[in-house]
Amino acid sequence: MKPRLAILFSLLVLVPLAGLSWLGVRLAASEREAVDRRFEQVLETRLRDVDALISAHLETVEARLSEAARMSAGDPASLADAPAPARQFFLIDADGKLVHPAASGAQGSLSTEERAFLGRIQGIVINRDLWHASRTNGAEGKDADSGWYDWYEGRGLNLAFWLRRPDGSVAAFEINRPRLTADLIAALPDTPGKSTGAAERIRLTDEKGDVVYQWGALEPGEDAEPEARIALAAPLASWHLEVYLPSGTPAGFGSRFPLLAGIAAAAIALIALAFVLYREYRRDLNEAERRLTFVNQVSHELKTPLTNIRLYAELLEENLPDEAEDERRYVGVLVGESRRLSRLIDNVLAFSRQRQEKLRLHPAPGCIDDTIREVIEQFAPALGEAGIVVETNLDAAATFPFDRDAVAQILGNLIGNVEKYAASGGWMRVASEIRDGVVCVRVEDHGPGVPPAHRSRIFRPFHRVDDSLTARSTGTGIGLSIARALARLHGGDLQLTASSTGSTFEFHLPLGGR
Ligand code: ADP
Repeated sequence: MKPRLAILFSLLVLVPLAGLSWLGVRLAASEREAVDRRFEQVLETRLRDVDALISAHLETVEARLSEAARMSAGDPASLADAPAPARQFFLIDADGKLVHPAASGAQGSLSTEERAFLGRIQGIVINRDLWHASRTNGAEGKDADSGWYDWYEGRGLNLAFWLRRPDGSVAAFEINRPRLTADLIAALPDTPGKSTGAAERIRLTDEKGDVVYQWGALEPGEDAEPEARIALAAPLASWHLEVYLPSGTPAGFGSRFPLLAGIAAAAIALIALAFVLYREYRRDLNEAERRLTFVNQVSHELKTPLTNIRLYAELLEENLPDEAEDERRYVGVLVGESRRLSRLIDNVLAFSRQRQEKLRLHPAPGCIDDTIREVIEQFAPALGEAGIVVETNLDAAATFPFDRDAVAQILGNLIGNVEKYAASGGWMRVASEIRDGVVCVRVEDHGPGVPPAHRSRIFRPFHRVDDSLTARSTGTGIGLSIARALARLHGGDLQLTASSTGSTFEFHLPLGGR
């Protein structure tokens, strides 16, 4: 297969395939993203369910402590043994003064525990937030009657639950964190003992990121990342719930399989299409080759008898007496037509050899002007018949190696075209010269010329200008392409040069040969 065709066929398959793959990868990526997002949402919903359990537990704690605070209205000392999970009870009056445990006066009567407690809540008492509004509970901008108060001190997060009483005082409970944590763990449904054995791990982490509690059969690696993570609702907003899953979950190869299968199927279809096209192309090529071989064989068969006809006709022409005018005319037609046919057959044979890359030259030293003269002489009767005046300006007398038959064929095609297409100009000049080590031969006419759009195309095989001129004269469209190929085989070229009237074809051959 020719490289250009190979590239074309590869492009036919590769470009759509590359496009398909790119699209497939993009689709797979976005599909995976969507699945990941959906999966994360599902996991978050599960974590929110766990968070709801924790919130529900905190609500029961709130209810229990509210009840106790209300009960203690008359006697703060009755709450010295605060209900679990509270550790200490304290009371701040409407003016913000700590009433219980008494911070001043009876210092001596305070236990060590109470003194430590006072130290811990000092900040809260000074910070009047607690009895003006809750930071962690109640509607935005609206005073709440009860709520949670969180502050960081000592081991980390500390919690207090407070309740405003009708007299404006605030009763509050400092929460025993280890106790609260233990209660929360007990409230969580999926304790290790009851674990369903699902291949996952859910972790409850505190404000420092330390694991408070975890469950599930999976043992995530040291640096495993959670699939989903949510913060708990207030007052434990600095705590988190995380879920870990085995790596590769959720969307693995399985979910992308239909897409990959689709791409593979499209690729196979494309390759099959390219194969069918290639087979069709090969079939056409073989058919064309068979036709070319046939034409080649016929031309070969015709060549020998035609050469004989031409030779005998030329011989007859030479030997006819001058007064036998009619006979001379008849023989002249015979000679002219057999030469025209010979040129046609030579072109067909050269074309078929060129296609098979077998077109060769047989150079021998000679004078190109002699060859030009011979060709013009052969054309003289036909040109005279067409009313074309021939002018010559030959100035390339040097001897150099060239293929005489090939040059005769080039010239024959050029002059034959003048006869066919430029007879209306009534004039033709053939000139030769040696310029910078190159032999240049020019054939000019005053015919209609070649339209600009066709100037380069007329050198392509089978291209004929589609006008009344070509409609009137027969031709195959291979003459100029063969002429150019022969000039190039010599190491030269054939061109249509710019001229004000008619056409000027010029070919040049290097003096030193190839
Ligand atoms: P053919 O003569 O068999 O058609 P050629 O390859 O020799 O094939 O020429 C290609 C085309 O170039 C011709 O069909 C014609 O249209 C145009 N052509 C060639 N020579 C001339 C000329 N001297 N003047 C005008 N047109 C020409």
